[in-house]
Amino acid sequence: MHPDVDHILISASDLNARVQALGDAITAAAGAVDELLLVGVLKGSVLFMADLIRAIDRPVAIDFIAVSSYGASTASSGVVRLIKDLDSDISGRHVVLVEDIVDSGLTLSYVVDLLKRRKPASVAVCALLNKPERREADINLDYVGFDIPNEFVVGYGLDYAERYRNLPYIGVLKPSVYGC
Ligand code: 5GP
Repeated sequence: MHPDVDHILISASDLNARVQALGDAITAAAGAVDELLLVGVLKGSVLFMADLIRAIDRPVAIDFIAVSSYGASTASSGVVRLIKDLDSDISGRHVVLVEDIVDSGLTLSYVVDLLKRRKPASVAVCALLNKPERREADINLDYVGFDIPNEFVVGYGLDYAERYRNLPYIGVLKPSVYGC
């Protein structure tokens, strides 16, 4: 285990099994839809996205959007800013928004509103991790990997100051690392 990690919350094998189950559920819900467009929210969702698309047994296209995140802080500012827009036109398409973690829900709510204004056929939300205790925005999550407690986690794409994304598990960062 990485020395900055206090404990492992979700092991690599539990992540693997749950991502496959999410892929199965998305496949089942897609029914006869020709193609799904999975939209990943950069950068935290990239590892999840890479595994999730391989767990979906339907044609999938992918695109990415980037919005401002916490930077090197561990608390949401509540201010969301668009940094990179989608490359594709989503009107009339079946979109699955792929997010690493939902905390206050403010980021997700901003992105969902932005996508809905572009008249997709549908927008479903798939979040790997959900911290329900800290919810501020009223949002609907169609697929959730794991509900987790209100602790700052890293690994499997999630960072603190751009570090720890390459850990194969989800771990709780030692508070001493971010100065508490
Ligand atoms: P929200 O807008 O829901 O409060 O925050 C969502 C974003 O905050 C996530 O996409 C992620 O970038 C960041 N975030 C929230 N909680 C955590 C956490 O425990 N660990 C990490 N690494 N990022 C988090």
